[in-house]
Amino acid sequence: MRALARIAPPLLLATALVCSAAGPAGAAGPPPKTPEAVGWGGAVASVDADATAAGIEVLRKGGNAVDAAVAVAAALGVTEPYSAGIGGGGYFVYYDHDSGRVHTIDGRETASRTADEGLFLEDGKPLPFADAVTSGLSVGVPGSPATWETAVQAWGKRSFADALKPAERIAEQGFTVDRTFQDQTALNQDRFKDFPATRSLFLPGGKLPEVGSTFRNPDLAATYRQLGREGTRALYQGGLGADIVRTVQHPPVDPASGRNARPGRVDAADLAAYQVRRQQPTHVAYRDYDIYSIAPSSSGGTTVGEALGILEDGELSALDTAQYYHHFLEASRISFADRNRWVGDPRFSDVPAKELLSARYAAARACLISPDRALTSPLAPGDPRHPADCASSGGAAPEPYEGLSTSHLTVADRWGNIVSYTLTLEQTGGSGITVPGRGFLLNNELTDFSFTPLVPGVPDPNLPGPGKRPRSSLSPTIVLRDGEPVLAAGSPGGATIITTTLQVLLGRLDRGLSLEQAIAAPRASQRNTAATQAEPGFLALPERARLEALGHVFASTPEIGAATGVERLPDGRWVAAAEPVRRGGGAAAVVRPAP
Ligand code: GLU
Repeated sequence: MRALARIAPPLLLATALVCSAAGPAGAAGPPPKTPEAVGWGGAVASVDADATAAGIEVLRKGGNAVDAAVAVAAALGVTEPYSAGIGGGGYFVYYDHDSGRVHTIDGRETASRTADEGLFLEDGKPLPFADAVTSGLSVGVPGSPATWETAVQAWGKRSFADALKPAERIAEQGFTVDRTFQDQTALNQDRFKDFPATRSLFLPGGKLPEVGSTFRNPDLAATYRQLGREGTRALYQGGLGADIVRTVQHPPVDPASGRNARPGRVDAADLAAYQVRRQQPTHVAYRDYDIYSIAPSSSGGTTVGEALGILEDGELSALDTAQYYHHFLEASRISFADRNRWVGDPRFSDVPAKELLSARYAAARACLISPDRALTSPLAPGDPRHPADCASSGGAAPEPYEGLSTSHLTVADRWGNIVSYTLTLEQTGGSGITVPGRGFLLNNELTDFSFTPLVPGVPDPNLPGPGKRPRSSLSPTIVLRDGEPVLAAGSPGGATIITTTLQVLLGRLDRGLSLEQAIAAPRASQRNTAATQAEPGFLALPERARLEALGHVFASTPEIGAATGVERLPDGRWVAAAEPVRRGGGAAAVVRPAP
């Protein structure tokens, strides 16, 4: 019998901070950053104060959550250009309050129709990962511009051009460089300097941008203006697209650098053929909530959903903290074993998405969890089409990848609509290649493909293919109860996105934390590897010794994810929540603060 628990009471901070959004930075300095805001009229949470302010501005002017989400995304393309922007892709999840329906857009970058399994092989051997990243070869057809235009045209109240305007202004007038931006530039300096267009934009005068200085990007402002005027056909069928193709096929590298930046295959026909996919969200019923996320080509919805299914029968709210973490880690481990074996682009392999989310399969996998000892990784996958209790079969593959790039934004409006949207270039700084004269970096998303099968002899649904989308971990999530909004959340962080989203959901729905506390809590990420990655704050928890006694092994990592979320309170106010510390702290704001 499935337990029906009411939402655990939130420990809402008595002194909830609020922030009214200021205008764009420029000479006036950056708007304030605050991790929690409570009030009426709509809410925005992102990693960046200017981007959050752009969303609030659109909501104030009568735009809805979709208009505001696109404005925030476009602004992130200016202020977080290493993680977001028109050179990349992402997944957009939208709850429409009028119809009560959840819609999604898969705007994932796509391989050229000429790509094949050998995309990243040279002389039969896989290219070194770093060489593949900084190359034209890793660039997929960008999906973000089409996502934005499709979303605004399908569900927005304003025009695509209007949604781009705040970002255009920030690009023109500039934003204030903070420590995070400088650190991310420093991380990329060695490769950015090899591409003159990237160097002149992001290393002005050959140096790192100074903290506190104003960073302008007039080329990007002009690109946004053109997209607003002409629509995305300028990119998928026009001159902007021609510039992208030239850049991918002939990466504009400084010959003196000696860098071998392999050319890519994307051509004009690939751009013209690009289409976002509007598809059904994933759905799981968890306790008395309905949890919606993105279906494959992302593994986010199926993997978070499978883990929730595995945890459904345990009374997580009643467990002591060590047992709660033990169950969280074990459910993550098991669902990652299945993700790596079964999830890829569904147009290329028969992905058992429904079966992975079925209650029968969840029970068969939950049977593996013992309260007395941790499982050993790599754990073999199960067979979701033939669920058998406690059975695992076939080759086991760990998922070691952890990234820090990508950006998650969450928006709600006064009508009760919600957007949960994650966008990415893959690595921080994508391919490192800026389209000359256009002001944006191209993605390296195709390195999310397996270069060779993860386990020799076991089918890998994530090998490159013609027109194929690489498997993602993005997990933009929306939670409803009785058809009404409860909350939305998501995070960047490569494959850790899945475990972070799961941990935030469990913290809020099962463990009595407020949304901000659930986001701020110390994190651990178990992805079917021998050691669980854990932040220093997690390793300092008193429960660590008990977890180790159960067999958990931890490896320290400085930071996991950078989540944002929104929540609707019972009286109709919205909470916007972001990171207090990670990635320099996020920016939460509401239209009319009322703590
Ligand atoms: N490219 C990754 C994905 O789609 C995300 C990268 C990151 O967040 O670091 O899963």
